[in-house]
Amino acid sequence: MPYDFDLFVIGGGSAGVRCGRIAAGHGARVAVAEERFWGGTCVNVGCVPKKIMVNAAEYGAWMEDAAAFGWPHHRHQAHDWAKLAAARDTEVTRLSGIYGKLLAGAGVTSFDARATFVDPHTLDVGGKRVTAERIVIAVGGTPTRLPIPGAELGLISDDLFTLKALPKRAIVIGGGYIAVEFACILRGLGAEVDLIYRAPLPLRGFDEDVRAAAAEALAAQGIRLNPDVAPTRIAKVGDHLMVSKSDNFMREADAVFFCTGREPNTAGLGLDKAGLDVRPGTGIPVDDEHRTAVPHIYAIGDVIDRVNLTPMATAVGHALADTLFGKNPRKASYENVPTAVFMSPPIATVGLTEAEAAARGPVDIYVTRFTPMRHTISKREGRRTLMKLVVCQNTQKILGAHMLGEDSAEIMQGIGIAVGMGATKQDFDRTIGIHPTAAEEFVTLRTRTRVAGVQAAAQ
Ligand code: NDP
Repeated sequence: MPYDFDLFVIGGGSAGVRCGRIAAGHGARVAVAEERFWGGTCVNVGCVPKKIMVNAAEYGAWMEDAAAFGWPHHRHQAHDWAKLAAARDTEVTRLSGIYGKLLAGAGVTSFDARATFVDPHTLDVGGKRVTAERIVIAVGGTPTRLPIPGAELGLISDDLFTLKALPKRAIVIGGGYIAVEFACILRGLGAEVDLIYRAPLPLRGFDEDVRAAAAEALAAQGIRLNPDVAPTRIAKVGDHLMVSKSDNFMREADAVFFCTGREPNTAGLGLDKAGLDVRPGTGIPVDDEHRTAVPHIYAIGDVIDRVNLTPMATAVGHALADTLFGKNPRKASYENVPTAVFMSPPIATVGLTEAEAAARGPVDIYVTRFTPMRHTISKREGRRTLMKLVVCQNTQKILGAHMLGEDSAEIMQGIGIAVGMGATKQDFDRTIGIHPTAAEEFVTLRTRTRVAGVQAAAQ
């Protein structure tokens, strides 16, 4: 039976657009449907507008740093939120438009509509029946609130990008990527900020040294840290919000943000009609080739809840299109994915944490902490850099590289290539540093800080 399309992609975010565009380039007849905004979370309510706001927050502190270098102190006026919001929205609109143009340029049929399954090969796309031989689900995820009384009074991450003004006092609940990034943005732009998280340190899953350094840096910029706390209620009192824990009043604020994770966007997609049995709020199960339980239906990006990062989603979308329609079947590797948290200063990392590596065998640990050159002059608190290498003792391969400090994300991109290629400590050692930079510390770490892992335990 002939289908309307060889491939139908549900979702025009990073994963879906890349998959559709590359498939069309291989000659497939492709359609993509997007109901909300082209470019998805990353471009519209995620990485892009967030990074613009991170930059805005950092500029304020840089102006203060500049005074130490002889520039007049300019920070006598408050930050202009409306101006930032307008500049941010213009850039987001531009980038979102580019996504649409990329598809059109590749010959992809675009639908500005919601697509839901009617049967395993048929979709309802904004009221129209469309059939496809293969279907890719790339609908992404959505932020969640904690199930506590008054949760509806709290904001989610999307809301930061529609706020009309900076809240004077903000409470950020959560200790993950979004929570620490938002706390730094709000604080950097002038708000009083409380960060409330249930663990002793923020950023579970990151290296323990990095987590400790992150807490130190957050506190140094005046963010009030509330570790080991799980809020139980939000209430409105006058024009303020009150957050409580175990029925005790905790803090009052003008805005409360839930940054407590995201869940796959599977509700209402009609997955059951496609023959897929997916529990609400969970990722769609897929095999190594991103095939669901129904062989011609695939799922990629945040909807599978694996590594929820834009570049991972685009890489997987690209590889899937190459596999299905090109002459180059391949998989994108989920190993050694570099990632960054754009707090102030940023964190970047690739590979294993010390704890993960030590669980596999003996490792040499190299750690350095120093004040980067700019801040030896500016004397800004909380800007001490941390760099760390986790090295397999047997092979001397670099298993993990971690950094908190200025430009860490820019530096880690290159380190990620080396780690992915299996570079050893000796490869790092023989690399000539670029002087004077912070990055050169990664190739001049001579003295082992400690040994961890099996051997350390045996000693
Ligand atoms: P994360 O999973 O990173 O963090 C969620 C936070 O919420 C954790 O601190 C978690 O605590 C806490 N939490 C979850 N459930 C509860 C609960 N019931 N009570 C109290 N606290 C709770 O999610 P985010 O929303 O921050 O980010 C989602 C994903 O988006 C990230 O994992 C990342 O993949 C991606 N992202 C990437 C960015 C980047 O590349 N820079 C930026 C932003 C997002 P605990 O750790 O104790 O479970």
